[in-house]
Amino acid sequence: MKYISTRGAAPVLTFEEAMLTGLARDGGLYVPETIPQMSADDIRDLAGLSYEEIAFRVMRPFVGDTFSDAEFKGCIERAYAGFGHDARAPLVQLGPNHFLMELFHGPTLAFKDFAMQLIGQMFEVALKRSGKRVTIVGATSGDTGSAAIEAFRGLDAVDVFILYPHGRVSEVQRRQMTTPSESNVHAIAMDGDFDDCQARLKDMFNDFEFRDGVKLAGVNSINWARVLAQVVYYFSSAVSLGAPERKISFTVPTGNFGDIFAGFIAKQMGLPIDRLVIATNQNDILHRCMESSAYTKTGVKPSISPSMDIEVSSNFERALFWAHGKDGQAIKGLMDDLASGGGFTISDNAMGALRENYDSGMVDEAGTSAMITKALAQTGEILCPHSAIGAAVAEDHLGTTPMITLATAHPAKFPDAVEAATGMRPALPPRMSDLFEREERVTRAPNDLQALQSIIRERISE
Ligand SMILES: *Cc1c(COP(=O)(O)O)cnc(C)c1O
Repeated sequence: MKYISTRGAAPVLTFEEAMLTGLARDGGLYVPETIPQMSADDIRDLAGLSYEEIAFRVMRPFVGDTFSDAEFKGCIERAYAGFGHDARAPLVQLGPNHFLMELFHGPTLAFKDFAMQLIGQMFEVALKRSGKRVTIVGATSGDTGSAAIEAFRGLDAVDVFILYPHGRVSEVQRRQMTTPSESNVHAIAMDGDFDDCQARLKDMFNDFEFRDGVKLAGVNSINWARVLAQVVYYFSSAVSLGAPERKISFTVPTGNFGDIFAGFIAKQMGLPIDRLVIATNQNDILHRCMESSAYTKTGVKPSISPSMDIEVSSNFERALFWAHGKDGQAIKGLMDDLASGGGFTISDNAMGALRENYDSGMVDEAGTSAMITKALAQTGEILCPHSAIGAAVAEDHLGTTPMITLATAHPAKFPDAVEAATGMRPALPPRMSDLFEREERVTRAPNDLQALQSIIRERISE
């Protein structure tokens, strides 16, 4: 299995290399050269299997010879052993033909754990074998950072640095990043918003002297291995609702487009997915783009669903790559326009290809709160604000095809928004109930590449 860049000008890599690298050297994102197929019989055979067994069968062809079957099975077993629910990604019913997939039973209570826990295990096996060390740097709107820290804390061959926007993450998110005491964990509170954090991270990857010097590795949602791990729960949930005999649709609370793009890959592999519905908050650049063909930045407005406060939706580049018939030059052109002019316009042809797979919708702040209130009253389910956006958009797309909305975080991760909507303050699961007593450790940093690079160089040489 070979991996190529969406901008067509970076070396072709193996799965292991693509996983350890993250961003391609031409600024693009790695994607598999061809998509492995699962026949209707292969999909039918998944019925009744454990999440771990489904994960092995769905992901195995993408991994190539990076891991033996036994190594890969071991990684999967260890990755999900710490989840608080045996089904890993259980479904509950919200209404006629509307289901909620709870993706928040992992150690940091957001769906990011599905990919990050597995990546932690795969990095550990690959680095032990090669005797190499890496420096992981990630940018986060809150949930990626805590999931990465949880996955890599205490590992010998890894230092992990997480940049988060100072003052713009929830207290639970911040504490999950600042309270681990292991010396290989470094939380950095940076001035600016999430897009600034992501931009400085990209600058570090594009500074090849720094990148090679500190052996930079990226685990942001641009890392192909993360997308891959998220493909699995599209299969497990669809099969439990009757795939491949029935088509299924999904609504996905979307920011960086990683989670919903995993659904597109599942569909490309042969899973009978009808619609993939992009749900955005008031930062609705993707929804506006689907309606108007113009991807235009207008400035990020902080919301009660902070993990979706994003305007540079990195993985959308992968969707554009497919929509443009895998033309790396075309993608490079669009991304150059975005960097220089703050936007780009998508051709009618490519828009047609996007609309074949994706629908979209937006929910504002009041609508988010109203959905949290309504879901509790009608179903007893307490939704986090992100999941509420998904559920509200999904309601506009219900029909005869079963709809699965992805619940991306546990309500206790965003207690203020949930309390405002319901009058109830959701409790953290018992295993984290002392989070508010643990000591915090964090470095403040300006929105400045050189300052960030010196912090990282100093810390890894200690
Ligand atoms: C990261 C995140 C999202 C957005 O997912 P993308 O893959 O970036 O589109 C939505 N909800 C929550 C809770 C998240 O942590």
